[in-house]
Amino acid sequence: MPVAALQASTLDPQTAVYDQIVEAGDSFLHKIEQGQFFRIVDLEGNQAVDTLFYNARDYADRYSAQDTIREQGNIYLTTGTRLVSLFGNVLLTIVADTCGRHDTLGGACAAESNMVRYDLGKRHMHACRNSFLKGAMQWGHGLGKRDLGPNINFFMNVPVTPEGKLTFEDGVSEAGKYVELRAEMDVLVAISNCPQLNNPCNAYNPTPIRVLLWDANVL
Ligand SMILES: [Zn+2]
Repeated sequence: MPVAALQASTLDPQTAVYDQIVEAGDSFLHKIEQGQFFRIVDLEGNQAVDTLFYNARDYADRYSAQDTIREQGNIYLTTGTRLVSLFGNVLLTIVADTCGRHDTLGGACAAESNMVRYDLGKRHMHACRNSFLKGAMQWGHGLGKRDLGPNINFFMNVPVTPEGKLTFEDGVSEAGKYVELRAEMDVLVAISNCPQLNNPCNAYNPTPIRVLLWDANVL
């Protein structure tokens, strides 16, 4: 276990300029301006929040799990993690985290991975990749299937064993835990609030999340 960098935020939800509930299984896309603070709250606990970030001016410049891991020399994300893009830009920095560990290795669930991992009959179950694609189509502005790359799974517990294997374990998050990020440039966030029912990432019960935004001058 790495040392968790638990850090609470001083920002008050009453002063947020945006405050929204994202239901279990829904997608959410929103632009975040440079300097704004973005918080994701795991309202009921043990909910995986599959998330992608893009440079708002160029969607080809998206979040890169590989570059982020290499830059920080750690496979888990927490307070202090700088989210690096494919073109080497820092998109956002995690500035507060009351959960302590977030995954960026496990990927987003898809019809294909559900069939391989669980059963052929799981093909038609709702999966994150469908939610991302639906959200991208609704957002428009050229965002499409080719832009759906490796993602972050906030609040998801995917430990790497001493043998180097990935396992999807019961979550370490609890009701009310949150992660907060500061945008270092104008970014687009895309969330799939994971509908997965075949592994313990959502405690077999997907639940809503809350997303909030504060302007840069709130501090
Ligand atoms: Zn999922």
